[in-house]
Amino acid sequence: MASPATRLKDSHGRVIHDLRVSITDRCNYKCVYCRTGELGAQYPELGIDEYFRLIKLFVSLGIEKVRLTGGEPLLRRGLIDLIANLSGLRTASGRPLELALTTNGHLLEDLAKPLRAAGLDRVTVSMDAVNPAIFERITRVPGSYQKVLAGLRAARDAGLLPLKVNCVLLRGFNDEEIEGFARFARAENVAVRFIEFMPLEEDRLWSPKIVVPMAEILERINRVMPLVPLAPREASETARRYTFSDGLGEIGVIAPVTQAFCGACSRVRLTSDGKIRTCLFSQIEHDLYGHMRAGESDEELRAYIVSTVHGKEARHHIGEPGFLKPSRSMVHIGG
Ligand code: SAM
Repeated sequence: MASPATRLKDSHGRVIHDLRVSITDRCNYKCVYCRTGELGAQYPELGIDEYFRLIKLFVSLGIEKVRLTGGEPLLRRGLIDLIANLSGLRTASGRPLELALTTNGHLLEDLAKPLRAAGLDRVTVSMDAVNPAIFERITRVPGSYQKVLAGLRAARDAGLLPLKVNCVLLRGFNDEEIEGFARFARAENVAVRFIEFMPLEEDRLWSPKIVVPMAEILERINRVMPLVPLAPREASETARRYTFSDGLGEIGVIAPVTQAFCGACSRVRLTSDGKIRTCLFSQIEHDLYGHMRAGESDEELRAYIVSTVHGKEARHHIGEPGFLKPSRSMVHIGG
């Protein structure tokens, strides 16, 4: 653990040790629950060396795990160099940084080995169906299912383990896939994580009715394959994890809507244009890059990070009267 002096903490007593960094808000998929159909960027990207400098500052303040995301991070030129540089960093307590990446997997087949060789520890691949036709209806990209499956298998072969698959369930789109995903988890030896749909889309699609709640997901799987709960590995773990009675395969449910886990949140985010977001649902952003461009020293930037993180929101207010959607959607924040 980092010494208390180097730990990032918020005013609610939470230690912040996870940083998610979006390195582009461009994406090559147009998932129906995320995008309007546009592919392009809405926000500028920083230089790869600029992300490195900012991440290094966070790491010196106690960040132990960095997840690169986007947009689609595999679209970003310079990604391999960034990972190689990050893998040389040590945490404030002297350990190697935990390095993960979230991707739609489309370009992973060719990139899995170079990413691993550069020092990436693991990947999470987003897949919202195991039926190819439903998958392609969601991504709106022909041939995407086969590409992602090949990417997933290449990641496993390259040793980017444990391999996780994220699936966002939406009633009427892909909720018929739940049992198929349980079988997929076992057949492909991956940990499938079902994520409740949050109001973070570009369009206006979200309603409580479209969310498939954790209780329903578990009940449906239990009906065909009895689940056995797994103990949490750490307090800030977002997924409730389960295996099956024969111990083969793992599924988890991340339930930010029906079982919010804000009290144990350990995360902050850096957007592709260098803004700190202390919560997915923040109404304000903090322009770290602006401070860097103004020529501030590392010491000054560290002080800015510490005071910004201190003000992290207590919790989100999804589903409550007066809830305000954040100014950016998931693809432009960095999921
Ligand atoms: N392009 C990468 C990918 O597909 O994983 C990284 C970015 S994507 C925005 C990250 C994750 O956010 C994906 O698993 C996606 O399914 C999820 N996501 C997008 N919109 C969401 C929403 N409104 N609620 C919950 N998860 C969402």
